[in-house]
Amino acid sequence: MFTANYDLKKHNTFGVSVKARWFAAFGSTETLKNLLSEAKSIPLPLFILGGGSNILLTKNLDAVVLKNEIKGITVEPTDDPNSFLVTAGAGEIWHSFVQFCVENGLHGIENLSLIPGSVGAAPMQNIGAYGVEIKDTFYSLKALNISSLSEEVFSADDCKFGYRESVFKRALKGKYIITSVTFLLKKQAELSLHYGSIKDELANLGIENPSLKEVSQAIINIRNSKLPNPAELGNSGSFFKNPVVSAQKRNQLLAEYPNLVSYQVNESEYKLAAGWLIEQSGLKGYTAGNCGVHKKQALVLVNYGGATGNEILQLSNLVQNTVKEKFGVELEKEVNII
Ligand SMILES: Cc1cc2nc3c(=O)[nH]c(=O)nc-3n(C[C@H](O)[C@H](O)[C@H](O)COP(=O)(O)OP(=O)(O)OC[C@H]3O[C@@H](n4cnc5c(N)ncnc54)[C@H](O)[C@@H]3O)c2cc1C
Repeated sequence: MFTANYDLKKHNTFGVSVKARWFAAFGSTETLKNLLSEAKSIPLPLFILGGGSNILLTKNLDAVVLKNEIKGITVEPTDDPNSFLVTAGAGEIWHSFVQFCVENGLHGIENLSLIPGSVGAAPMQNIGAYGVEIKDTFYSLKALNISSLSEEVFSADDCKFGYRESVFKRALKGKYIITSVTFLLKKQAELSLHYGSIKDELANLGIENPSLKEVSQAIINIRNSKLPNPAELGNSGSFFKNPVVSAQKRNQLLAEYPNLVSYQVNESEYKLAAGWLIEQSGLKGYTAGNCGVHKKQALVLVNYGGATGNEILQLSNLVQNTVKEKFGVELEKEVNII
């Protein structure tokens, strides 16, 4: 059942008010198939919505917007008594799914605690944080082929995961709707604590040998202290990707800026910290009308209230141009501009 001219303000974490020409939610693959059949008579493009935490809506959507609410979590044993296949419906809230795994002693995605959004959107950009990406524990996903209406299974290789990348953002963009995702998680596993701030937070909490739950809590504490809560201040997390540059470019910048923050990716490439570049460009805390660059975290653009998607888009362009002029480095937007 479609609703006409539906306001998406509550469905995007920037809190931007735009209308969807047609809107419907689906809680099962069957309902989704029925909606897709019905939508064939509407000559408009489709847009699949999860939690709206990685989109910037810049205009009313002359589209059929379908919101994924497929729920359910199952845990299956494997031949290895330590490993379990854990499957979540694409409409499960990502953080609730992480909490389910943590509560059940299933290791592998605890460092991804508190990332907003849905399970189904997680493979879209291979979400990652604190040294872990979903590709590390990803097993497979099911997705509905929009033109044939048949459900297909994708392995990790099929998904072509990269840094905030997957085949669903590139060659297969707009062709599939992810309906469930399966992870291979372990009962016993080493915790991933190599990010300095995790160790610092555990030390703050007085914890020497952390449990799975304590690592998840440490991540939650760090994120709460660093990132604005979208329920209080509209944002979409990191607006830009950390740019990858040649070793030559990095060395040239390092000679000029000895405090440059960079991480080696491979023999010939380095990743630069986009937040550092923006901050050094003098834009941390910069405001433009109703939006701005966050005061504490320069990688995050925020809606102070009433900003339009276009205002935020213009601000993001200004950030990109300023960084390009100062450092000769192109920032790529991580957030999907719609
Ligand atoms: C405060 C904050 C912190 C964040 N921190 C991180 C972080 O640490 N790491 C990180 O990687 N990301 C982070 N993000 C970004 C965001 O949370 C993730 O990208 C998340 O996976 C988006 O999920 P969503 O359900 O909100 O997707 P949406 O924003 O609804 O959609 C994103 C894109 O995926 C498509 N899509 C959504 N669901 C499906 C589906 N089932 N099938 C096909 N296409 C689909 C949409 O059409 C859209 O193009 C953060 C965001 C915020 C607001």
